[in-house]
Amino acid sequence: MASKNIIKELTRNKREVIIAFSSHSDDWVIGAGGTLAKYAQEGKKVIIVIFSYGEKSHPWLKEEVIQKMRSREAFHAGEVVDCEIVFFDLEEVKFEEGYKSKNIGQELLALLEKEQPTKLFTHCEEDLHPDHNAVHKITLELWSKLPSKHRPEVYTYPVWNPVNFHTKYPSLYIDITSTFSSKLNAIKAFHSQKFHIIYPVLLLLFRAVKDGIKIRKKFGEQFFRIR
Ligand SMILES: [Zn+2]
Repeated sequence: MASKNIIKELTRNKREVIIAFSSHSDDWVIGAGGTLAKYAQEGKKVIIVIFSYGEKSHPWLKEEVIQKMRSREAFHAGEVVDCEIVFFDLEEVKFEEGYKSKNIGQELLALLEKEQPTKLFTHCEEDLHPDHNAVHKITLELWSKLPSKHRPEVYTYPVWNPVNFHTKYPSLYIDITSTFSSKLNAIKAFHSQKFHIIYPVLLLLFRAVKDGIKIRKKFGEQFFRIR
């Protein structure tokens, strides 16, 4: 029964998979870019699921032009940190509607069952952006539908809030000293969102230093484990 042994061997040597959910094309970089880059560097397979192309910040451009631009930027950012990108085209602020009508839940469940990630990163509960909040809810709903032995650990990341006040859940701090520059380079891939460059770099620097202090490293990222 050589084939059975081969299958066993393959399962044992399966690369660890990490998945991150991101409402818009750049949220994952802002919230967890250093950590995801670090996991990729360690040889783990990192998949980013992006639900929407992003904020409509260019009203003078056609929607398809924006989508193309955003997806190109996201794929480029994915290359910078060595992650795979999966895109869905939900309309902003109407996430829940599109999610249901396009049956995205089924696709995501299939992805989670196929890849069996050990960790799943998502938006935090206290994030007031409706799309971020919708993805937070979607994550928990999907998680509860998975068979218990395939349920990953679930961690939340912040996007625009400089400090996270949630104290109910345990924190996970990751040393991102070696990948902080990749995180910044990934952010710079989003050329179409010029306003994104100055504010996030300062915010990211502030947060990375603050979270780094907690673990006595130069730079860190903090998450909350909610499941
Ligand atoms: Zn966002």
